[in-house]
Amino acid sequence: MRRILLTCAIIATLIGFAEPPAFAQARYFGDSVPYPRVQPRLLAKRVVKPVIVIDPGHGGRDPGAIGKNGTQEKGITYSAAQELKTILAKSGKYKVIVTRRGDQYIAHEERLRIARAGGADLFISLHADSTGNGAARGASVYTLADRAKGRSKRLVNSQNWILDVDLAKQSDPVGDILVDLAQRKTESQSEQFANILLKNLEGKTRLIGNSHRRAGYFVLLAPDVPAVLLELGFLSNPNDEALLKSKKHRKKILGAVKGSVDQYFKQINR
Ligand SMILES: [Zn+2]
Repeated sequence: MRRILLTCAIIATLIGFAEPPAFAQARYFGDSVPYPRVQPRLLAKRVVKPVIVIDPGHGGRDPGAIGKNGTQEKGITYSAAQELKTILAKSGKYKVIVTRRGDQYIAHEERLRIARAGGADLFISLHADSTGNGAARGASVYTLADRAKGRSKRLVNSQNWILDVDLAKQSDPVGDILVDLAQRKTESQSEQFANILLKNLEGKTRLIGNSHRRAGYFVLLAPDVPAVLLELGFLSNPNDEALLKSKKHRKKILGAVKGSVDQYFKQINR
């Protein structure tokens, strides 16, 4: 009998039954080595960082706008995206995803897929403007136009997106209402971020008149991802082109973007 008990004790020790409970105070074996104190996983504080997706416009075979002195938009947006990623990541407060690596062509659909798959809490697309009027200068911020909302809804079906609520289980009218609700919340958050951003950009860089604009840009269409498109300045203007090429100038703009991201999350988590 004693032999059986001894065998059981050895087996229990080997397979871990004899481990102390997870909350155990440090206990000492004969050789004075304490059990490590562990915190049960369920009670550990779950730290979830907001996910920021930075989208450098254009890339690969799509150079975007070309400046008076030959600067390509895709290069400016990529440099700015990397710089913004560094600033945001350094704060330790965010998980940052960039939609393209290097000089790569990425379709618009793919950019949104990356954002949604990454659980984006905020999507910032970076671009540089161009117009026939060489005098036009300054930054602007775009959010989704009302007229593009139908397109956004159609995209949910065409891309087989599942929003927070499983639309497949809803009858069509209910699914429609749920998309509307998701869209409305996203729209209000996008507007909120755009307003903060424009306020913070003031004084850091020139802004065009009517600097909060609305358009149906594809990358703004996800109904459940707050999104803005930031035009950093005009490549068609030689002064803006020179500024956009300057890392120092970009740092000023991107510092304002970082401050705005901080402010935005503080506001929505209140
Ligand atoms: Zn562009």
